[in-house]
Amino acid sequence: MNPTIQLYDATLRDGMQGEGMSLSAEEKLRVAHALDELGVALIEAGFPASNPKERELFELLASEQFKNAEIAAFGMTRRRDAKASEDPALALLAESVAPVCTIVGKTWTLHLEKLVKVDRAENLRMIAESVEFLRGEGKRVIYDAEHFFDGWRAEPEYAIACVTAAAGAGAETVTLCDTNGSSLPSQVAAATTAVIEALGSDVRVGIHCHNDAECGVANSIAAVEVGARQVQGTINGCGERTGNANLISIIANLQLKLGYECLRDDQLARLTQTAHFVDELLNFTPDPNQPYVGRNAFAHKGGMHVAGVTADATTFEHIDPALVGNERALLVSELAGRASMLEKAATIGLELDEDAAARVLDKVKILEHEGYQFEAADGSLELLLRRETGDYEQLFELESWSVVVEMEGTGEVSTQATIRILIDGKRYERTATGNGPVNALDGALRAAIVEVHPHLREIELVNYKVRIVDEAKGTDAVTRVLIDASDGNAVWGTIGVSENLIAASWEALVDSLECGMLPSHAK
Ligand SMILES: [Zn+2]
Repeated sequence: MNPTIQLYDATLRDGMQGEGMSLSAEEKLRVAHALDELGVALIEAGFPASNPKERELFELLASEQFKNAEIAAFGMTRRRDAKASEDPALALLAESVAPVCTIVGKTWTLHLEKLVKVDRAENLRMIAESVEFLRGEGKRVIYDAEHFFDGWRAEPEYAIACVTAAAGAGAETVTLCDTNGSSLPSQVAAATTAVIEALGSDVRVGIHCHNDAECGVANSIAAVEVGARQVQGTINGCGERTGNANLISIIANLQLKLGYECLRDDQLARLTQTAHFVDELLNFTPDPNQPYVGRNAFAHKGGMHVAGVTADATTFEHIDPALVGNERALLVSELAGRASMLEKAATIGLELDEDAAARVLDKVKILEHEGYQFEAADGSLELLLRRETGDYEQLFELESWSVVVEMEGTGEVSTQATIRILIDGKRYERTATGNGPVNALDGALRAAIVEVHPHLREIELVNYKVRIVDEAKGTDAVTRVLIDASDGNAVWGTIGVSENLIAASWEALVDSLECGMLPSHAK
């Protein structure tokens, strides 16, 4: 049997140290449930009282049920020259609802000497007595050895003494932290091997890496390969500076490449949706190039690749995308052949005969000549295919729209848009203001449409990109607008092209709402 790996998610505590990261207590609770569904064993929720928001989270957690996960509260070793039982921060950990407490302590002599000015023997007592105290209070304890690898490279005997103190005091896991993200895989493997030899088999060894040398994932894997059995990381690698080790890639690599047991197969298939969910909640656009779960992770361009993948996927794909809940995206471009068009149609459940495929391909070529580019506009491509097969219903009929942008002498700018459309023969005229022409048009259009299709209210425009394209042949420069829209779950891209920026935006905007009506998106 393959060894089982205990997954420890640090998104809600360590991950929140990153730039632009902010979640309310309720949102953190939603992340916790998504992590539970995914199947992680431990969720680091934070310090039970470091601020009112975290206190609120622990109050909410007190009444929650989880299927797979346990909550870990996070804190640090006792203060120097004081009793553990009299340390107010340790008392809060002891009182918290979490069955598991993770405490972090010093390992690196440089920190002891230069930073905290604690002598070596007292640091060892701080580690042992803090673990002992929490054990005595009925908690299971994970000891996070901060700066372990820097400490080990400076003074290996002392670094080992620190983790031995934690293990001897009853920690169930001793986790080695590459806090500065400074290490390389061979160094992590050597140090982890030394710890496992020193501690024996009574205590689990864990790994917690940061990505400063872009080795967060590789270092985590290196530690597991020499015997670490707990992996800490964050969803999509969010975290301070360049981030924590990306748990998403770690899980996929350990399970699919090395045969370790991290998740059940049905849980592994939730990897993509979990990664996107966390990004959306943080208001980040999911990285299309993220390994395993990105929209382009299994995208193929060029006749050779497309033909190869269609013949046998293993010729150009490192794993079956369905295993991690992703799907193959065949990029359509001037290079692509008829096969890729048929394949794209099949993935959205459309029957496309050879003639129709040829017609769509001709159409794509003409549009690309005009400045369109469908690789980031899967939504617009789907609409194009549907129009060709007749499996398409127009959302509304446009009579006209207008936009007025006005600037006062004071510099204040206001925008107002008016649309006139017909839906099922009924006429709607709506006006909206906005922070710009596209926002105002979106507001006016949405005001009319949601009366008939209320679920389109859920759709958010998450990304808006404009590029001036001068490579379009035979015409003057045109404006290309790309919009990413999301219903909170799926994300789709649409495109508009025109010599007029607002007209291009309108085209992409209408496509994004029409996509929201498609069977694959409609609720
Ligand atoms: Zn960390």
